[in-house]
Amino acid sequence: MLYPLLILGLLLLALIHLTHGQSHRHTHPVQTSQQSLSQDTIPFETRVYWMRRANAALAELESPCPFGAFGSVVVNHTDTSSDPKGKLVCMSINQSMQKGNPTLHGEISAINNCSGILTDPNGEYKLSASEALKAFSTLSLYTNAEPCPMCASAIRWSGFAECIYGTSIESLVEKGWGQILIYSDEVFEESTKLPSMTRLIPNVLANETDPFFSWQFDPQYPCPEGCHRSGDGKGCREIWGTTNREL
Ligand SMILES: [Zn+2]
Repeated sequence: MLYPLLILGLLLLALIHLTHGQSHRHTHPVQTSQQSLSQDTIPFETRVYWMRRANAALAELESPCPFGAFGSVVVNHTDTSSDPKGKLVCMSINQSMQKGNPTLHGEISAINNCSGILTDPNGEYKLSASEALKAFSTLSLYTNAEPCPMCASAIRWSGFAECIYGTSIESLVEKGWGQILIYSDEVFEESTKLPSMTRLIPNVLANETDPFFSWQFDPQYPCPEGCHRSGDGKGCREIWGTTNREL
């Protein structure tokens, strides 16, 4: 009679241990890089300004309504010599379709552009490769949608001071976008062994970034400003003649 009770007891102990182990993992996460960062002193209006620039990069570089409407700007907040809001270093939008390169999400493309600009021997910065790598720790990346795990990892490997995003991965999925469900804060939390730290600021100006991702899978959703529904009603096309480029 004792054996079944003993086995039952051991099973209960194992169950308690497992449950406790799981709750331990969820309630006491490893110390994140976020907790060690200094206080954020950048005004919210400045965040809003640069997030609007990330949205505006779409029209500046391609159209107000590219299908993959992911725009990023990289800003040096430590350089306020010409503007208290900081200095724009580089920007880009998703280039996968244009270049036939599936890794060229807006953030990766912006990082590539930054490396080119920082190391250009005829450019403003003229940095060596190692100096350019170090320079990323002074830069902030604004992106109008939450970085996917590929981009979040690239951002952490770059050592950016900050990453600020608009629309969340959760919202993208709700709107019909295919996404890998590893959120950027998870990638950041698992990257504490890297030498650098990156502040992550979510959901900035999402009410203005969301519409850029809302029309692609919803024919009823209005197109972004400067665009209209194409003849078949499926896509949004730029209205030529209304943008500044035509003037
Ligand atoms: Zn990405």
